[in-house]
Amino acid sequence: MKQKLIYKAVRHHDKVIKVNPAYTSQCCPMCGHTEKANRNKKIYLFCCKNCGYKSNDDRIGEMNLYRIGIDYLVSDTVTAE
Ligand SMILES: [Zn+2]
Repeated sequence: MKQKLIYKAVRHHDKVIKVNPAYTSQCCPMCGHTEKANRNKKIYLFCCKNCGYKSNDDRIGEMNLYRIGIDYLVSDTVTAE
């Protein structure tokens, strides 16, 4: 699973972005609240304890990976200037 997620990050951004898959599936993409209890692995559901946002847990991981990738590229661009 870890390899799969990192591979996706590489394909999306042409760069190796190291992320913690457990963290990405526990972090709310809407409000940023991170809590282990946000994710219910048994029913593959993410439900934010802070704002109540709900989605499929795999989708949450991908949304966060995409956002982390953008943050990484933005900060990289800033550093290069
Ligand atoms: Zn939230």
